[in-house]
Amino acid sequence: MTQALAKLRPVEAPNDIDLAAAESAARALLQALGIPLTSESVRDTPRRIAQMYAELLTPAPFAPTTFPNDGGYDELVVVTGIPFHSLCEHHLLPFTGVAHVAYLPGDRIIGLSKLARVVESFARSLQVQERLTTQVAGWLDEHLRPKGVGVVLEAEHLCMSLRGVQKPGSRTVTSALLGHLRDDPRTRQEFLSLTRGDRS
Ligand code: ZN
Repeated sequence: MTQALAKLRPVEAPNDIDLAAAESAARALLQALGIPLTSESVRDTPRRIAQMYAELLTPAPFAPTTFPNDGGYDELVVVTGIPFHSLCEHHLLPFTGVAHVAYLPGDRIIGLSKLARVVESFARSLQVQERLTTQVAGWLDEHLRPKGVGVVLEAEHLCMSLRGVQKPGSRTVTSALLGHLRDDPRTRQEFLSLTRGDRS
């Protein structure tokens, strides 16, 4: 499999998570930050940190079944407001928000809940929002061969809200438009106006 295609596959459960090593590394980090781990309430914190990151970096497996588009449906399929969370790869802080995902069917369609699963699958890894957006669009393009794909992600990044520029509530919006959703002004407008319903 080429490098480009490998990047488009949903992230598989990392099988090289070493919980014991992660726990001792978390303990070392807390100690290096001058945090005593003597009281009962924080004694197990390194173990909890290790388990939390293991969970956040392990996507639930899913079978991306597609079906023939027997009915010849040829209008946009849009799911808006899919909640997601991911971890920014620069700070390991969460970014959370909603995804709006659409495709214009070709010969194949996919269960609506699977659109949310694709987002979740790619979100459960260290990410930047831009790459997450293009990975979801690329996966749909590769597996459905649709006439068009649209993905819009809106998220708040805790690394922006809590530190650095400290702008709580600011949202980052990214989009990936392919095929007719990119080239056909009517389809593009239809998708973007549907996603804008969720924005103030
Ligand atoms: Zn960050």
